[in-house]
Order: sequence, then structure tokens, then C-alpha cells
Amino acid sequence: MSKKSATIVDQGSEIKYANVLLPLPFSQTYTYSIPDNLGMCNSINPGDFVRVPFGSREIIGVVWDSPNKFNKLDRIKPILEQLSVSRMPETTRRFVEWVSNYNMVSLGLVLKMTMNVPDLFKQPPEESIFFISDTIVDYKKTAARSRVLNLFTTNSHLSGPLIRQEAQVSSSVLTGMLKLGVLSKKKVQQTSQFEDPDWQKKGPTLSTEQSIIAQNLRKKIIEGGFFVGLIEGVPGSGKTEVYLEAICEALKTGKQVLVLLPEITLSAQWLRRFEMRFGCTPALWHSEVTSANRRKTWQAVARGEAKVIVGARSALFLPFRSLGVVVIDEEHDQSFKQEEGVIYNARDMAVVRSRMEKIPIFLVSATPSLETLHNAKSGKYTKFCLSQRYAGAKLPSIEVLDMRISRPERGKWISPEIIDALRKTFKSGEQGLLYLNRRGYAPLTLCQDCGYRFQCVKCTAWLVEHRFIGQLQCHHCGYHTQMPKECPNCKAVDRLHACGPGVERLAEEVREIFPDIRMQVAVSDNLNSVGQAGALVKKIEEREVDLVVGTQIIAKGYHFPFLTLVGVIDADIGLTGGDIRALERTYQLLYQVAGRAGRASRVGKVFLQTFSPENMVMQALKDGDHETFVQKMIDDREAHSMPPFGRLAGIILSGTDEKLVKEASNILGRTAPRESGIITLGPAPAPLALLRGKYRIRFLIKSQKDINLQDEMRKWLRRTSIPQKVRIQVDIDPYSFM
Ligand code: ADP
Ligand code: ZN
Repeated sequence: MSKKSATIVDQGSEIKYANVLLPLPFSQTYTYSIPDNLGMCNSINPGDFVRVPFGSREIIGVVWDSPNKFNKLDRIKPILEQLSVSRMPETTRRFVEWVSNYNMVSLGLVLKMTMNVPDLFKQPPEESIFFISDTIVDYKKTAARSRVLNLFTTNSHLSGPLIRQEAQVSSSVLTGMLKLGVLSKKKVQQTSQFEDPDWQKKGPTLSTEQSIIAQNLRKKIIEGGFFVGLIEGVPGSGKTEVYLEAICEALKTGKQVLVLLPEITLSAQWLRRFEMRFGCTPALWHSEVTSANRRKTWQAVARGEAKVIVGARSALFLPFRSLGVVVIDEEHDQSFKQEEGVIYNARDMAVVRSRMEKIPIFLVSATPSLETLHNAKSGKYTKFCLSQRYAGAKLPSIEVLDMRISRPERGKWISPEIIDALRKTFKSGEQGLLYLNRRGYAPLTLCQDCGYRFQCVKCTAWLVEHRFIGQLQCHHCGYHTQMPKECPNCKAVDRLHACGPGVERLAEEVREIFPDIRMQVAVSDNLNSVGQAGALVKKIEEREVDLVVGTQIIAKGYHFPFLTLVGVIDADIGLTGGDIRALERTYQLLYQVAGRAGRASRVGKVFLQTFSPENMVMQALKDGDHETFVQKMIDDREAHSMPPFGRLAGIILSGTDEKLVKEASNILGRTAPRESGIITLGPAPAPLALLRGKYRIRFLIKSQKDINLQDEMRKWLRRTSIPQKVRIQVDIDPYSFM
């Protein structure tokens, strides 16, 4: 059968069939018959959403244009219902297949990501609307009733909540007016309202540099077709401003726009910027959005009504009707890589989707990933460079503090240099940020008598003390327990010692030195919603805070005009660990933290506390020599045939039965590919050898660039039988080696 049609007529019987893909962990489609009375002119096409029986359940799936194979025709069940929603576009279907194939996950699980909304097809709830009755009645015109009636001089109908709010009346007033017959009401279906952004609204006057790039981006939108642009520029150079111009152009042509942001708590400031530029808020897509709003948004995206969608990585799987451009802001950010369930890299998949949709995509960063820089060098991507901060704002000066020399007091963590600088900063009414990427009070607690260390029972990890709430917590599985007074091992009382600093401990130290300043601790524990983040950002902007002590949650993307001093307490976190991206990632993070300082007219100052001042990361930051650092990193990757010069994949075996996991990994080790150009490392216990009570063993597979690694791995897994109780996860282009 042809790829285009989904249905086939069984010769002789006149029965039609369709193949349906279900959002379940299988790659195969299932065949159903199409009953005559299916409504919708009885035609079923690829992409149609249908409700079908599956086992004892009913499931909603998508008619798929996969070749039909009808076995056991007599046992085929009929489709129950064709849903009246927009068909899943062909490009989305091909994208689902591509993602499944590349990342080695079942088609059904990828399909699930495209429709992962509870009760997606439930009818929107009805709401009551009020209007003025035709019949003329005589009644007492109280002040409240008059206020209600006044509203109807400009509106033909209004919802109850709106009337109560606008006219400041209680619901009993409305009930009374209904009884009298002054008002009537009827039920209607709630409709989604997504305002169209106003692309005619005038943007800011761009600098020459900005405007040249903006023109280029606009041109790419007008021309259409696949194009990858890298927008690189120092923090505050106007990258956002420039890509908003591209968005404007896409909106002009009536197309949809997708913007992916790494951490959605980032979006408070971003949303305000967008609203200022286009006069309305865009549609949001992230884990905090309520089910009802997800449903509305999904449907509005499918109908093409929601024009701009801003979201976390999963927004990439929305059923866009006519996508015109994609923007990946902070493209180097690791959070674009989903590490659980379906493991995929949203940035890379976004490039693929754009290629399939034949549209431009813009990757934006001050510190692009090596992969992206390499693609720009080799001409696959086009680079646009913003070299200056807007309005002549200067980049902060970065000073590296050798902690063997700039020693803090015993048992303290802040060097005299930073304390001094903080004092001056507060005096001049400016703000400071102390950055330490470690939540809690201390990363390790031990008994000073017997040396006992508190470890998670379910993970290979120390328990972290959270002193504010008196707990020991595991940051991997969420296990927590009350902080004890005595050592569980030797029973010594009050001999437990907190080792190393976390932000809580840092805050305690600051309090002792500066008892009067207004300090705010910013960690995911107290900033885990868009609302909370927005409130804090506002407080900092309005200078109600003198010092922020925080983790990376506050280090990214924000723009605080009065923040001029940044102190990095432990710049060495992340340098070790044998991860191929350790140096690159540390550089990006520190660069970004440093970028918080002096973003407006004030010059910023950054201190990096380190025990390895000679490390190339510190040197590159100090000298502001991004180019040389990047080149060294790229050369290093090339010398070791690491990505993007070679390919990598990980396999993680896990299970609760340690012996079984070991056995399985040995079997897999014996059947590993022997082809030239492929090297298999492992089996080896994962650094996180125990996670949430599961034993974990890893393989790392390295291949030459020109080898189809996925195919080789598929063959490998097919020829190996692994016990059912052992879970196998494949991680293509791994970022985590834990
Ligand atoms: P980046 O994304 O590179 O960090 P932004 O686009 O956020 O830079 O710009 C930094 C700040 O400068 C923002 O407050 C932005 O509004 C302002 N800005 C940048 N370019 C202009 C411009 N041409 N006119 C007015 N303000 C600008
Ligand atoms: Zn744990």
C-alpha cells in the first residue's frame, strides 16, 4: 500500500482497516477495522486521533501510515470513535519516527510525548454566561443591580465571575436578578483565548551591530527553508532583542513560533520582555502548567491558534500546525538533555524537527557548546556575533583568588578579598551575589569519634544536611531523615561534624559578618515555581535585597542592573569527575555567573575562589580568552575522537537484584560488537552504583563518526537475551556519565 493512505479494503469483504499507533511502549502498530458509521464522512486518514479497544482498556491512538500487515483478520476489532481534533500533521509523524529511531526508544513512547496531557480529548468545561432578558419586568433598582446592568451597556454577555468582579457584587445579587427575570443565563462551551501577539508594535531602536544581524535573521524567515543560525554574544549584548525581531517576522507571515528555554523559572523576566515587545503573553508549556491549561494549549497549538509557545524541552513535541521558526535560548544548557524515561537531547532534536519542517532555527548562547561551535566552523551552521554589550556596558573584570593564599578564617569559606569587596558594594548601595552550587548546609556529615559518615541507604551518595529544617537529605532520591543528636554507630552525643559548605552555611557566615544587610538565599528549595522566582527577581530588581546567596538557579539569564559584585565560593566544583564536558561545563557556568555582574551602566567585579588557579578554565576566564579555550577543547576532542569527531553512546543496566544485573552485564559484555571502528568500554559499575535502590552497571560505546552506531547497537541488543527483571537504558550522545 502507498505511504499516503492508511486504510485498505480487504478484497471481497468490503471491510476497511487502519493501522493505529498507541502511546504505549511498543513500536508496532495495531490493526483495527473501520466501521461504517464512524461519522466524519467515514474517511480515516493518517494522523487521525481515534479511540480503540486494547485488551480490556480503551486507548486513544493515532492512525499511522505504516505498511499494513493483516494477520488474523477475524480477530480484528473496530475503531470506536474518531475524535474531532486536528489531525497530527505528517511532519510531526515523521519526526516521531526519527526521534524513536535515533534515540532507540519505541515509537509508542515518543508518540506519548506528543500527547502527554491528562484527558487530552475531554471536552472543555462549560461555563454559564449571563445576558439581559428580552422581557420587561418591573423591579427595585438597587445600587448593586445598577452596577451589574451598567456592564451590559458595552457587553452583550458576561460570565458570572467577571460580573461579580467588575460590578463588585455577590452571587446572591445575580441569583436575585435571574429570579426577577432581569437577567437570563445559558451554558456555553469555554473557548481558549490565545491573544495574537502584535507584530506591528514597534521594537527598540537597534544598534548597528544588532540591526545587521536582525536583518539577516528576518531575511532567513522570509526566505523560509531549513537554516541553522548560531547567535553568539556576550551577556547583555542584545541576543534576545535580536531574535525577537526574527520572531516578529515569523508572526507577520502568520506562522507559529517555538522558543525553548532551559529552566522555566527563567521565564519571569523573559515573559515580561515578550509582553513589552508584542503586547501579550505567549502560551506557556512546562511541568507547572495545569492539566486544564495544557489541554487548552495543546489544542490551540494543533489548530494553529496559539502563535508563540515558550517552554521547556517537552514543548518540542507539541503538534504545531504551521511552525515558522524555532529558538533555543542558552543552547549549551545541559537541561535540554532529558535524562529520564525517553532519553533525548531537545536541542539536537529541535534542529532535526526544523529540518523536517523546512524552517530556520536559531541557537543562542554566550558560550555555545563545542558541538555547535564545531558545526559553525565547518559551515553547517551560520554564526552571527554580537561583540559588544548594549549601550557600552563593560564586561566585568574577573579576579582569580588562590585559596592557598587568600585564606578565609578557620572553619570559614569567604576570603578576605570578597568580604572587603562586599563591604564596599553595600556601602555604595549596590548588590552582591555569592554563588555556591551546593544546596543545604553541608555536603557531608561525619562522627568525630568513630568516623561514621551518613550515607543514603538507597544511593551511592552522602546525605546532605539541611539545617534550616533540621534534616539530612539525599539529593538523588529524596530520602530524608531527622538530623540525629548522636552517632548511629558509636552513640557519641554531639560529636557530629558538618564537612564543607553549602549555601545555608554560607548564609550563616554572611550573617555573622554583615548582620544588618538584607540577604536572600536562592535555591531550588525555595524557588521552585515560576511565581516564587518572579517574586524574588522583582525584589532584587527593586533593590529590596543587598545580597543574594544562591546556587545556579539564580546564576542564569537574569538581568539585575544594580548587581555589581559576584563571588564564586568554590570555582573548582565540577572540574573533576572524568566527564568529557567537565571543563567546558565549568567554564560555561562560571562565565554565566560572572555575567550577572555589572550588566547595566555600572562596572562589575567577579572573584573566583579556587585551589587550582593555573587550571585553563580559570585562566581563560581571567584573560577573557574564549577563543583559545574553545580551540584547545576542540583540539582535545579531536585528538581523542570524542564527539563531535566520533560518536558515543551509553548503556545502563539496572535492577534491584544485584546478582542478576551483574550477570546480565556480563552476557552483554560477551556479545559486544567486534567490528572495527567500535570500542566498547565496560561493563563497569556506574559512579552512582546504587540509585533509588537499583544497582547500576554501565557500558560506554565509542565509534567512528561514519558508523551507524544505532544500527550496530540494535543488532547487539537483538542477539543478546537479557533477563526481564533487568532494565536496559540506551543513552545516545550521553551527557551524564553517572
Ligand atoms: P542578551 O540576550 O545578549 O543577554 P538582552 O537582549 O537581554 O541581551 O539585552 C540586555 C539588556 O539590554 C536588556 O535589558 C535589553 O532590553 C537591553 N537592550 C539590548 N539591546 C537594546 C536596544 N537596542 N535598545 C534598548 N535596549 C536594549
Ligand atoms: Zn538516595
